[in-house]
Amino acid sequence: MVGPPSRARGRWRAPQPPRRPTGRRRLSWIVALGLALAACGDAAGPDPGSVDRPADIPFSSALLLSHIAVLADDSLCGRAAGTPYERRAALYVRDQFVGGGLEPGAPDFLDVFALGPVPTRVDGTTPVACADSDVTGSQNVLGVLPGAGALATEWVVLGAHYDHVGWEVLGGEVAVFNGADDNASGTAVLIEAARLLRRWVVAHEALAGNRRSILFAAFGAEEAGLVGSSSYASGVGVPMDSVVAMVNLDMVGLLRDNTLTVQGSLTAPEWPALLAAANDDSLQLLYTDDFLSRSDQYPFIQRGIPAVHLFTGLHPDYHTPNDDVSLVNPVGLATVGEFALAIVWELATRPARLGEGATAIRGLARAGGGS
Ligand SMILES: [Zn+2]
Repeated sequence: MVGPPSRARGRWRAPQPPRRPTGRRRLSWIVALGLALAACGDAAGPDPGSVDRPADIPFSSALLLSHIAVLADDSLCGRAAGTPYERRAALYVRDQFVGGGLEPGAPDFLDVFALGPVPTRVDGTTPVACADSDVTGSQNVLGVLPGAGALATEWVVLGAHYDHVGWEVLGGEVAVFNGADDNASGTAVLIEAARLLRRWVVAHEALAGNRRSILFAAFGAEEAGLVGSSSYASGVGVPMDSVVAMVNLDMVGLLRDNTLTVQGSLTAPEWPALLAAANDDSLQLLYTDDFLSRSDQYPFIQRGIPAVHLFTGLHPDYHTPNDDVSLVNPVGLATVGEFALAIVWELATRPARLGEGATAIRGLARAGGGS
């Protein structure tokens, strides 16, 4: 999620040197991941084809964590927009989409776009481990699960940004902002939702019937000002009037007290009932619009598309070097994934588009969110 636009930005920064992962912390985490994977019995997790409806597909916490571990590793240097490290993260997501059986939503799944000037954050004499180079542009990673029947020409977008804010020199050392919650967590759910739903559809092709196409969009350069999602929503992909709804996953890794924040519920009158039906009482839903303009749902809302942002909330490690994989609640992350998939499937299969929310949407867009 983008930082606050005002001088209040400093409030979110860590005043203290970063906690570097110690050997023991890292080792214990890897052991835990190995045990969890072993417990699955199958590296791909449970078979989604064995359940009757997508809302019942279980997500594997271990697989979700394995994606976060890659994206939030120090070697990706915080995945800042336009850097080779962001590109490496994009290629990881691309490979996961390919492995999950999605069709490309852009040539080689990569929708490349230009970036404005990227500010230099250290002077040239500072020795760094994450030197930025060749900052020329960024990319969205777009995968498609094609629809079927009369609804196939309409689209549902499930999105999550995969970039983060990079690194800084703190106390004379490079401190990597790994962005495990922000937003390797949402990216991991996106990857798994795509893979699981595609497998379910293949297993149930005869039953799947009329359904909308689904775009799985991993947005780049969100932290640089929603650049990737704004580029996409400006119409570089499918016509925006064929997009019936958008669901954004940004910072979904720290579920606490089973409370999930939903922003954007005023963008269509059907949202509250639809979300309540998708929630099997495992989550307490908290409706706010406090940060409505600060993540990738907003460019869609500005174009009149009903969109919601699922969010497990701010925390003291937001936009600090401490946003590491060890913070993530893996069980909560899987619960959020299951909820998101239930929402997306309902959006893809309900006969009618979401309704007459245009007036409310215009009002929200004018207000610019609440923050
Ligand atoms: Zn952020």
